[in-house]
Order: sequence, then structure tokens, then C-alpha cells
Amino acid sequence: MSDLHERSVAAWRRHLGCAVEPHDLIARLSRGSLPEAFHAMAAAAPERPALDVDGSARTHGELDAAAGRFAALLREHGVAAGDRVLFSAPSSIAMVEAYLGVLRAGATVVLANPSYTRGELHHLASDSGAVIAVAAGQARAILAELADELPALQGVVDVETATAEFEPLAAESVDGDQAALLAYTSGTTGRPKAVPLTHANVLASIRAAMFAWRWTAGDVLVHSLPLFHQHGLSGVHATLLSGCRAVIAGKFDPEWICRTIASEGGTILLGVPAIYERLTAWDGIGGTDLSSLRLVVSGSAPLSPALAARVERTLGQIPLERYGTTESGLDVSNPYGGPRRPGTVGIPLPGIEMRVVGDAGDELPDGDDGEIVVRGPQVFGGYAGDETAVADSFYPGGWFRTGDIGNVDPADGYVSITGRAKELIISGGMNVYPREIELVLEDFDPVARAVVVGVPSERWGEEVVAAVVGNGGEEIVEEAVLEFVRDRLAPYKRPKRVVVVERLPTNEMGKVLRSEVVRLVER
Ligand code: AMP
Repeated sequence: MSDLHERSVAAWRRHLGCAVEPHDLIARLSRGSLPEAFHAMAAAAPERPALDVDGSARTHGELDAAAGRFAALLREHGVAAGDRVLFSAPSSIAMVEAYLGVLRAGATVVLANPSYTRGELHHLASDSGAVIAVAAGQARAILAELADELPALQGVVDVETATAEFEPLAAESVDGDQAALLAYTSGTTGRPKAVPLTHANVLASIRAAMFAWRWTAGDVLVHSLPLFHQHGLSGVHATLLSGCRAVIAGKFDPEWICRTIASEGGTILLGVPAIYERLTAWDGIGGTDLSSLRLVVSGSAPLSPALAARVERTLGQIPLERYGTTESGLDVSNPYGGPRRPGTVGIPLPGIEMRVVGDAGDELPDGDDGEIVVRGPQVFGGYAGDETAVADSFYPGGWFRTGDIGNVDPADGYVSITGRAKELIISGGMNVYPREIELVLEDFDPVARAVVVGVPSERWGEEVVAAVVGNGGEEIVEEAVLEFVRDRLAPYKRPKRVVVVERLPTNEMGKVLRSEVVRLVER
């Protein structure tokens, strides 16, 4: 990679506030593995408080030892380095220890939302070939029932399993190119595809942001993003890599956030626009002292300039908006030192080369709208077991096609996201892939065809709405459709409304015009 994209490299220097040798920087961002890096920090400051999750607190040293013990327990269950482990549990301190244990064992964590239904968990477990599931609550019960139907799955381990009797497994060296996480995301068709993220990818992504945002051991993260999701986990990763402290709640509650910032001297808040909507709407926000906050970050979905202004009025600063994707980690951010320009996502983060390209993959002139493509140590190597998807997702030279449309401001190089080429709905910061929902709806007898779209919503950013066409037989009743999806889809994926239409708007090629469907179902 001798021909680095010049403007991107200039952006890295601006983020870092100093001159850097770009290739040294790339090597530094992706060095090592997550368990080694966490262990090194814990060994340097074992007594320092690390996490408090819903009132259960651990130091960096305690977490490190607990991770080692959980890894030893997994070895006992036959989990070897390189195995896949399905992981599905709500946020708790035991859940974090178990997660760190899976990584310490050198296995790949397959993240699953704990509200997933039987069908969703079955699909993830069989598609990933997980050998063990580590789970809690409802997901654990479902997975235990499913074990007989899944030949690869050897057992289900409760995240709360006592591990005191185990000698901690040492943080052996894990190959940085091995997959740490297997996340699921999707392009335009079918069920989500598997995205292997190596230790190097995950480390490069979070370290780039930490350097750019000046994350240090003195920081206090106040956090209530779900830890079973990459965005929420990134807060835990940054805490363990920096040696700082995080106070975490399993559920989002505006009052808890504000009181905790005030009582703990919180310095960092990570969120999605839906969280800032609810936070700024809370009546008590004016009465709490939030002056300790130095960094308020928004990502995962577009932040409107109006909401950015409300955050500035209530939290005392314009949120630092950043942009990224599951496949490529954190890619672009407004610079910490400013200016923070609402409506833009800023400039490429350290290590990321970014271009806006036309249909042939050639870079477009500044100001023109095109697809955003990225390259760097944060970017995954390709979907697991899906060669066609890999070929469709990269341009020659290793440029990953994000499927997002944007442009670069000719005046200052700031990037604006102006659209989405992929059929993704972002509701409350969670990704919903229309085709997955459509397939479930089309399984409902009276439905012949379903199209699922995102409709603008104040509370959720976008909300999931389905347009369905009947098969000419039984009449479609909205309530019955909603009942049908209830035990097939996790709550955040379920349509908020189902609109019955005579026929779907299509173009001359018969392709459904999703923007017209949005108009059809908007109230
Ligand atoms: P995820 O894989 O959950 O990170 O979601 C990735 C997708 O979310 C991107 O491809 C974008 O479509 C969208 N996204 C993430 N951050 C932003 C942002 N700051 N502004 C607009 N869209 C965003």
C-alpha cells in the first residue's frame, strides 16, 4: 500500500494533532490481539477500577482474572482457538467476564441479540457453526432446547457459571489476523451475511477513535448502549485498552445517565441519535450538573442538525458525529479539536483511506454525490463463505463499498452522508434488513408479497413499516400479521405498522420502487 490516499493521510494528521509516519501508524493501530492488549493494561494497573455494571464493580485486575477463569472453563467444554462461540446475553458484569473469556480462549464471538426468537437464534447458530453457546435468560433457554437440532453445538454455558475452581488461562498470543468477532449484516438480499472481524480490525477501529478523541486512563465513560452489540462493546474495549473506568447500565434511562454523569464525574458519553432524542426531552436535564462531560459522540445513524443543536443546549456541546459500518468499523469523525459541523460526519479517522466514487469505482470531483468506499486496517477481508458477496463488495485495490452515498465538501474536506444505496433501515440505532423481514411476512399465508421500508420517525429515526399485497384469498388483518411476526422476529425488527396495498409500485423492469412505497405508507 505505497500509494496512500493523500487527503485521507492529511486527515489522520489533523485528528492526531501531530505529524505521523502513515505506515508506522497503521502498524501501531492493528498490533496484537484483544486479550493480549487487555491483559497488558490490567497487569500494569490491576487495582484500578474498570467497570461497574448495574452496581457490580470490578477492577482491571479482577476482570482479567475472571476472563482467564472463564476461558479455562470453556477449554474444559472443548472450546479450542479458532472455534466459534455463539454469545447471547443482556448486559451484566458476568456477561462481560464471559465475553472476555471467549476472546481469551482464542475463540470467535458470534454476537446475538438476547431478544432474538427461536428462529433467529437457530439460523445464527447453524450458519456460524458455533460449537458452544454462552448465554443468559431467554436466549439460554431457547438455545438449550435447540441443541438437539444443531449437530455442531456441543452445549450451552450460562454466563453466570461459577468459575472460582479454575486456574486462569494465560493470555496466550492470539494471531491478530484471526477472527475475534463474527457479526451479521446484509446487503440488499436475503438473510444477514457473516462478517468476520479480526483482532487487528477491531483494535485498529477503536484505537483510531481513541487517539482521535484523546481517550485516556483518566476518563469516565457513562454508558448504556447494549453490550451485546458492537457499538456498546466498543465502549468496553476502549475502557480496557486505556485503563479508564466505565459506569454502565443495562437499560437506557435518561435520569440514570444524567445523575451518573453528575455523581461519577462522567467525561464521555457514546450514543445514537435515538438516545439523544430521549435524553434531551427529559424534563430533569436542566437541573443536573453535566459540566464534567468532555466528549459526547453520536453515531450509527444520521444526527439531524436540529437534534445536534438541542444536544448543544442541554449537554453543553455539539455532539461529535462519527460514521462507520459493521464491515469497516469506525471510519470518519468530526475532529475533536473542531470545528464540529452538524450534518457532516467529518474527516477520515487515522488509518482509514476514504474516497467518494462513481459507478465505475473512480474517484469523483469534490462536491459530487457518489458511493463512499474505504480501505484500511479496520476493514474486514470479506464475507464468510460468500464469494459473490465479496466480489460485489470491493473495488480493485481493496476498497470496500459501504453502500452509503455521500460527498466531500470542496472547502474543507468534510464528508456528508446524503443517502443509502443499500436497503438498510436504522431504527433506534439498530440495523434492520428489509429482506429478512419480508421473507417472514411472505411466510404468512394470506400475504403474497411484502416490501419493508423505513419511514422517518422522531423517536426512532426510522421505523419499520410493511406494505403487503394479499394473495386474493383470505383478507389480511394487520393484527394477525403482527401476531404472526411476534415469535419470529426480535422486537426491534417487527413492523410498527402493516399497510395492505392493491399492488406495489414498480419500475418498467418490475423492480419495486422503495421510495414510492415509503410515500404510500407514510401517514
Ligand atoms: P452499523 O453497521 O450498525 O455501524 O451501521 C452502518 C450503517 O449505519 C452505515 O452503513 C450507514 O448507513 C449508517 N450510519 C452509521 N453512522 C452514520 C452517521 N453518522 N450518519 C449517517 N448514517 C450512519
